Amino acid sequence: MVIEGEMMEIHNYMEEAVKEVLDGILSQREDVCKCDVCRSDMMAWALNRLPSKYVATQKGRVYTKLDEINIQFKTDIIKEVVRAVEYVKDKPRH
Ligand SMILES: [Zn+2]
Repeated sequence: MVIEGEMMEIHNYMEEAVKEVLDGILSQREDVCKCDVCRSDMMAWALNRLPSKYVATQKGRVYTKLDEINIQFKTDIIKEVVRAVEYVKDKPRH
């Protein structure tokens, strides 16, 4: 069914979740490089180890907040993002 005027898009919600967790962790770390190269590497590293979570939403709609994800899911994301930060910290590409 096509609803006129309702532009839909497919979005990997895991990207939003990882970005939010990464921002939170990096804001508490003074010993880690936070440049675009390192941030992108951390995002990619964590996303490669977490399941994709695709959602179909109306274009421009605000995505579900991380608070609404169940706790175990959130714990898994935090675990992988922390590992990603440590990995990139030890092997920065610059
Ligand atoms: Zn860097």
